[in-house]
Amino acid sequence: MNALEREIRALIETQGPISVSRYMALCLAHPEYGYYSTRDPFGTDGDFTTAPEISQMFGELAGIWCAEVWRLMGTPQQIALVEVGPGRGTLMKDALRAAKVMPGFLNAIELHLVETSPVLQEKQREALHGAVSKIAWHGETNTLPDTPLIAVGNEFVDALPIEQYEKKAGRWHERKIGLGANGGLAFGLDPALLPDFEKNLPRRLTPAPNGAVFERRNLTPIADIVGRIGKNGGAALFVDYGHAESGFSDTLQAVSGHDYAEPLEAPGEVDLTSQVDFEALAALASNNVRATGPLTQRDFLTQLGIEARAEILQRNAKEEMRDEIGTALTRLIGHTPGMGELFKALAFAHRDLQALPGFDGAKVSGEHS
Ligand code: SAH
Repeated sequence: MNALEREIRALIETQGPISVSRYMALCLAHPEYGYYSTRDPFGTDGDFTTAPEISQMFGELAGIWCAEVWRLMGTPQQIALVEVGPGRGTLMKDALRAAKVMPGFLNAIELHLVETSPVLQEKQREALHGAVSKIAWHGETNTLPDTPLIAVGNEFVDALPIEQYEKKAGRWHERKIGLGANGGLAFGLDPALLPDFEKNLPRRLTPAPNGAVFERRNLTPIADIVGRIGKNGGAALFVDYGHAESGFSDTLQAVSGHDYAEPLEAPGEVDLTSQVDFEALAALASNNVRATGPLTQRDFLTQLGIEARAEILQRNAKEEMRDEIGTALTRLIGHTPGMGELFKALAFAHRDLQALPGFDGAKVSGEHS
């Protein structure tokens, strides 16, 4: 048993079973033993590989997206460029290099990175050294400046803690983590009943069958960014794995060494995420802010011109690198095992902003007209 498990067991012994969100938050962000607090989990030697770590093309297109949004905003002289959960800083590094093609953009931005992990903050500092004149780090979104902003977040939302609920014998309960018969961590249902639970679900999902599990995520940082866009203008792009419409399933997932692991084993040593419910995410749209999407990562990147970009890279690459670029392209936009279908892009934008780059044909919600 590791030190974090000892701490969690002690917590449960004194306070009773804990919510899945509390467990996730402890596993990912405990200051001493949290998964992200203590390590750099990315890449082939790590636990998992994200899109910007697969290919420079991903960050480059994200950078073009930001620069184009800035142009559509009327090229404001000052704007906050925000990344939430920047990992190793790879996406932003590639984005800033690519965005040089937009005259004036780099001079207009002030870079703000929202990152809880000191280890990763350090990686980001190294990766972005010299890329822009000023970078500010934030532990939370609530200290971001009160200015127009353009934000991006790749695989950030999936790491935000979720709560889980289950219907059993016609009644809804919260799923919690307590101690099992052998004293180890175990899932169980809180005996308290949630009589009105089903009223908050999309109508088409009710009445829910017994055994249904519903996940609800704490989207506070995203709601904060959406609120800022409504007040000051701008846009935000989120790319993540998940489902376009709300539904029932237990998607809590642990990953270690590029393989699935048990969520309750070795807490803090494995990555914990769950699928993003893009319907719930889009519902953060408000009077002033529209949500556009989700589109599949394949459609989004294809509209932004990833195939042409791959061709140019291949043309300029040495023979032995050409296949690698092709493989990366397939991983980013291909079907399973590629990320093209499961991963999706969703954007929020102030209603003053017309059509967003990469989102032709996407559903728009929160529209007032
Ligand atoms: N965007 C990167 C990393 C994704 S992993 C990439 O695509 O490679 C998730 C990132 O979010 C990590 O940097 C992690 O430390 C950070 N993170 C997770 N939860 C967070 C939170 N609540 N606040 C700020 N950063 C968080």
